[in-house]
Amino acid sequence: MINRQRLVSEFLALVQIDSLSRREGRIAKRLAATLEGLDVAVEVDDAGLKVGGETGNLLAKFPGNARGAAPLLLCAHMDTVVPGENVKPIVSGDVVRTDGTTVLGGDDKAGIVAILEALRVLREDTVPHGPIDVLFTVCEEFGLLGAKHFDVGRLRARTGLVLDVDGVCELVTQAPAANKLDVTVHGLEAHAGVCPEQGISAIKVAGEAIAAMRLGRIDAETTANLGLLEGGMAVNIVPNRVRVRGETRSRSLAKLEEQTQHMRRCFEEAAARHKATAGGREHVARVDAKIERDYDRLDLPDDAPIVRLVQRAAANLGKPLQTRATGGGCDANVLNGRGLAIANLGCGMREIHTVNEWIDVKDIIATAELLVETVRLNAAG
Ligand SMILES: [Zn+2]
Repeated sequence: MINRQRLVSEFLALVQIDSLSRREGRIAKRLAATLEGLDVAVEVDDAGLKVGGETGNLLAKFPGNARGAAPLLLCAHMDTVVPGENVKPIVSGDVVRTDGTTVLGGDDKAGIVAILEALRVLREDTVPHGPIDVLFTVCEEFGLLGAKHFDVGRLRARTGLVLDVDGVCELVTQAPAANKLDVTVHGLEAHAGVCPEQGISAIKVAGEAIAAMRLGRIDAETTANLGLLEGGMAVNIVPNRVRVRGETRSRSLAKLEEQTQHMRRCFEEAAARHKATAGGREHVARVDAKIERDYDRLDLPDDAPIVRLVQRAAANLGKPLQTRATGGGCDANVLNGRGLAIANLGCGMREIHTVNEWIDVKDIIATAELLVETVRLNAAG
């Protein structure tokens, strides 16, 4: 069934094509040619224009060869994180890693390769299957922007799989929703040596707010982080402005809201404590907080049809499949937020987003086998 050598050479070829977010042009060209080689037209959307990238999302709609089977979506992303240029894969036995200077890009090229191999096997072995929508997105690692700019109305499928998580024979069915916070603290500038009492230090306000804030692991399903802080003009000027950017995530929407408001309140309460009089006027520190939903949550019950389908497929292959939760977001969050039922299937990637990233080829093979069986069972009803 699975052609190991073909799968490995496809994987090694893809990881050696640089494809940082917004620079997926070369890999998209190769993948479009590969899909067209399987006799299917490839559509490229305008997400590339919207994100300032080299290409949009690729969509290929494979016709089914079995009557009545529901369409399935198979999705993976084409971009990788930094450092991801000039990847030199090193193969030893079944394991592929890098020379330690870059990520491998198994996130998410393992997902792409598992999908391509499954499509080839379906065709060679004339496995009965329903319509399959194959979606390769851009900019997943850059705010899930490819998926956010994708029009799900173009899909036939309402359910399916994203392949974009570590582990193998594991299905992520729960993932948090996330809010982004972009907070500017406004103080008042003054000469730091001559009249500091006429200023309000935005850095001090932000510092007090952050010191009072619950951050990091809040509980089993909630996290919070401030990741960027910038402000100040010079060491001899009381700083009048600091910008702090962060996020909070939770699988509970109530907790997400509570943590978001807590973070906002910490800034507002710290600001209210800081006043100064300058030019006969009283000034108070002020906070300008922009809060927006970054992505929705993934929340599929264990008895969702897609979960049961993949579980049955795994059981047929003698490999019990676990469902689990993750603290990460991926394209599945966006697609579920648009009303689809999409789970995230492990495809073998390990130690992702680090230069120690590696993968065991056997795990990509197992994933491709599981895809073939899932598609076959879906057609068998
Ligand atoms: Zn990924």
